[in-house]
Amino acid sequence: MLEVVRIPVLNDNYVWLMHDDVSGETVAVDPAVADPVLAVAAERGWVIGQIWNTHWHGDHTGGNVGIKEAMAAKGGCLITGPGAEAAKIPTLDRLVGEGDYVAIGAHAAQVMAVPAHTAGHVAYHLADDGIVFVGDTLFAMGCGRLFEGTATQMFDNMARFASLPGDTAVYCAHEYTQSNGRFALTAEPENRAIANRMDAVDADRARGLPTVVAPRAPRR
Ligand SMILES: [Zn+2]
Repeated sequence: MLEVVRIPVLNDNYVWLMHDDVSGETVAVDPAVADPVLAVAAERGWVIGQIWNTHWHGDHTGGNVGIKEAMAAKGGCLITGPGAEAAKIPTLDRLVGEGDYVAIGAHAAQVMAVPAHTAGHVAYHLADDGIVFVGDTLFAMGCGRLFEGTATQMFDNMARFASLPGDTAVYCAHEYTQSNGRFALTAEPENRAIANRMDAVDADRARGLPTVVAPRAPRR
């Protein structure tokens, strides 16, 4: 089974480190920075053989070079990201787009093109494992900002994510839940479901706890 570790970095970023104990492979998803990610991997004795980037923003790719350099003597690190943004991510080794597959060990991830936050944004969907890495496209209680695309594109992205099985773990790249929920309440002040969830979110944030999907522990 895949293990997924959450690494909080910068102000509100989450880097996700995924490990397959059968193949021994480890993937870092959207490493904003290198050192904290390398430290978590080293603690566990993991070698980061791949990086998967969802889009070009620096708080998703800033750790690419540092991790690759650190792994140079340990078998190297293959960096995958959206071909449509290759000009903006010079560190990419492998370019992907809609329908392509990447893998960690025997676990396949299908690439979904989900433009809107950025023009070439992709998500990585591991259907058999019930996992999707959505970068800055979908967050708890909200979607990403429209920097390079349209609301229609983002709406289509939401429809695609909504069509995934209900038990899919959605790993997003920022702790934005509280501000998303506050906005949702201004739009729908009578919505009890939002208000109830915000009670829980506010309580968690007051204690400094994350409000995104929990990391995934290996089955023992
Ligand atoms: Zn972004």
